[in-house]
Amino acid sequence: NQKSIIIGAGIAGIAAAIRLAVKGYQVEVFESNPYPGGKLSEITRKGYRFDAGPSLFTLPEQVEELFLLAGKIPSEHFDYIKLDVACHYFWEDGKSLKAYGDVNAFAEEVETKLGEPSENIRKALRSSAYIYEHLAPLFMHRSLHQWNTWVNPQALRSYLKMGKLGIFDTMNGANQKQFRQEKTVQLFNRYATYNGSNPYETPATLNIIPHLEFNIGAFFPKKGMHDITQSLYKLALDLGVKFHFNAKVEEILVEKKQALGVKVNQQEVLANLIVNNMDMVNAYKTILKKQKQPQKLLDQAKSSSALIFYWGIKKEFSELDLHNILFSNNYKEEFEHIFNKSSIYHDPTVYINITSVYKEDDAPKGCMNWFTMINVPNNQDQDWDTLIQEARKNIIAKINRILKTDIEPLIEVEEILEPRTIESKTSSANGALYGNSSNNRYAAFLRHANYSSEIENLYFCGGSVHPGGGIPLCLLSAKIMTEMID
Ligand code: FAD
Repeated sequence: NQKSIIIGAGIAGIAAAIRLAVKGYQVEVFESNPYPGGKLSEITRKGYRFDAGPSLFTLPEQVEELFLLAGKIPSEHFDYIKLDVACHYFWEDGKSLKAYGDVNAFAEEVETKLGEPSENIRKALRSSAYIYEHLAPLFMHRSLHQWNTWVNPQALRSYLKMGKLGIFDTMNGANQKQFRQEKTVQLFNRYATYNGSNPYETPATLNIIPHLEFNIGAFFPKKGMHDITQSLYKLALDLGVKFHFNAKVEEILVEKKQALGVKVNQQEVLANLIVNNMDMVNAYKTILKKQKQPQKLLDQAKSSSALIFYWGIKKEFSELDLHNILFSNNYKEEFEHIFNKSSIYHDPTVYINITSVYKEDDAPKGCMNWFTMINVPNNQDQDWDTLIQEARKNIIAKINRILKTDIEPLIEVEEILEPRTIESKTSSANGALYGNSSNNRYAAFLRHANYSSEIENLYFCGGSVHPGGGIPLCLLSAKIMTEMID
């Protein structure tokens, strides 16, 4: 049996383990944390349960595919629902709207609440589907570093449509053109944050994202987001994958340009194939530090980070849904702070994710588990303690203004995650959530490939390599990488 080693049990590392095990490899995973899942883990405190990282789930078939590959019926191991309301949006002037999963209902709601012609919404979502149809096969499902990606009939068809795919405009620029109302522009600009980018700089190509949420759907795993990694971890165990926890890989052993194994806990473990799921920037700084550094790729600007307060709230708010957004009064200034001033705007957009709305046992009776998050710059050694203290006050004040409440006395549990702890817990460079940002039109080409062009038998998966961050793309990175080994 060929043996493979995987460094890191993030979602992509686990997916790679499953794919290699199905192929007949003997697989060992080394994970520095005492638990699997990386950013997709959970926190439990005093009767409250929180999904620690991702909260929005799209493209569930990427998870199901792994069960199918292993010959199992997905719904027997991992179950989820499609959301009727993708998100509940609030503004300070008292306006609010529900983004219904049904496109027509959503379009009507935006017309009623914001005065945006519903046809503009339908048109924008058709255009989003068009971008997806032409770019997903190239940029999401294939390596960008192999010639056959670029020389095939599908690629040629897409070249002919390039002008219509938003490559030459920014997301905000395109949204200003397709919508009449500033609030609709703001709502659609928010999709840039789904991969940690700035809507005022990122190309309009990222208008591909609303297609995922509306035309395909937003979903919620019945047992919470954490069940995505838990169920896949169990599947990997079932397939005979061996996991080692508290096992921090210190070096990838390379001789004569061949990866031979890893050094972990002072021991050398050899294998025919090495797959790295650790963030690439930190991997080159540590476990690959003796190897040639792809400096240009490593120097790319990183995506934004997050500040999260996990709050146990001893009250229920009937106006809140699973996903809630309390919008900033000045979106442009907010992103200016995140990406150009390395600071936090005093009026941030507040995202509140409440899984107890769907999964009652995530909070005690009459209470709610609030995952309260704002987007913040990645870690550049700012004075985080001061910034976090200030932000906490501003977030609470904003929630109080919009929900007309006094939230502070209702907080009975508080845990905090911020850029420094995101990096220390998952080794993500600068605490960025999604690897490199997509703030320029070449970003896709400036992500690390899924293989090493210098070292044989060394492959890569995860949010810091092609095709990028976020659960579906991380899962696709494992797929692209495994297909390459063929
Ligand atoms: P990671 O989760 O980054 O895990 C890498 C693993 O490697 C870690 O477990 C780490 O301990 C391990 N490791 C590192 N170095 C070593 C070493 N030397 N030896 C052994 N092990 C090592 N995505 C979405 O799709 N939807 C969302 O709503 C969403 N929201 C997010 C919110 C937050 C707060 C965060 C943090 C992320 C969010 N994301 C979201 C992004 C998503 O979580 C990531 O893109 C994805 O989980 C990254 O998976 P990964 O496989 O790259 O590995």
